[in-house]
Amino acid sequence: MRAALLEQPGTVTVRDVARPAAGGRALVQVTQAGLCGTDLKIAAGQIPVRMPRVMGHEMTGWVVQPGPRGIVAAGTPVLVNPAVFCGYCDLCRRDLPQLCRSGALLGRDVDGCFAEFVAADESCLHPLPDGLPAAGAALLQVQSTCVHAQTALPAPGAGGAGSAVVVGLGVSGLLHLQLLRERGVRTLIGVTRSAAKRDLALQLGASAVAAPDKAADVVADVTDGHGADLCVECVGSQETLAQAMRLTGAGGTVLVFGTTAPAADGLPTYEWYLRELTILNPRAARPRDCDAAIRLAASGRLELAALVTARFPLAQAGRALAACADPGQLKVVLDVT
Ligand SMILES: [Zn+2]
Ligand SMILES: [Zn+2]
Repeated sequence: MRAALLEQPGTVTVRDVARPAAGGRALVQVTQAGLCGTDLKIAAGQIPVRMPRVMGHEMTGWVVQPGPRGIVAAGTPVLVNPAVFCGYCDLCRRDLPQLCRSGALLGRDVDGCFAEFVAADESCLHPLPDGLPAAGAALLQVQSTCVHAQTALPAPGAGGAGSAVVVGLGVSGLLHLQLLRERGVRTLIGVTRSAAKRDLALQLGASAVAAPDKAADVVADVTDGHGADLCVECVGSQETLAQAMRLTGAGGTVLVFGTTAPAADGLPTYEWYLRELTILNPRAARPRDCDAAIRLAASGRLELAALVTARFPLAQAGRALAACADPGQLKVVLDVT
């Protein structure tokens, strides 16, 4: 089969390799694979992996060979949850499979989906309904992690947010914005440097948008000076995390979604204490979040097509990675088969 492999940091080649051995797993023919910042870090060697490694963790496809328990039949279109979990460790048994002690990520710790075929545990297969548009399918993995992140929030009306800020309007920020809109959050503010993404956020339901240097004024303006009930940080820098903490009002919640740089000195921890902020750090997705994301994509209530801005064939995986590094792009997708 054809696959895009990281041969050494900075070198991704598309070549023929052996099909993965099922080894107690199901075999899935990959249809679409999405790229994100994690792939860029893996390709650059910032996240070390054993090489050669078949990259890619965001995928949909269809089952070619069912797993040993036959849970999902051959021919079924599926989302593959790339976060492998054992189901037996103490964390899995505490309903935290996304933190499994023997967990792994496809495309990082084991071979992934920038390939015609991928082997995946059958507990990671989530059947897709007929007729799901291609754009919706391409975003399902990242959407699952956004859905998971928001499961930690109080329900609207039960102390849930009346106002929310999303800092950073890339794919995950624009998905969070739409999920918050669907939760009934009335005042939704999007913050980004990009004028084009601010326009898109307004089309997707933001009630106000701001460039980062205007965010404090805009948030104060629409919240009577109180600050937001919720701020979702979707960039992953020290600067934006500090900004999210400052934009959140007393008793509010900061949802840290962007993976923050390992050293985050200079955070306003006194303000964090003073306003008794809740800081949430959700990671990956549970199986139920994958199913919830599929239901939402199938409902047609989310605008997903506008979030896919480039598509490449598998043979051009290198070009796709370069496109993914362009901040003007949203989701970059490989059409694999
Ligand atoms: Zn990703
Ligand atoms: Zn486990």
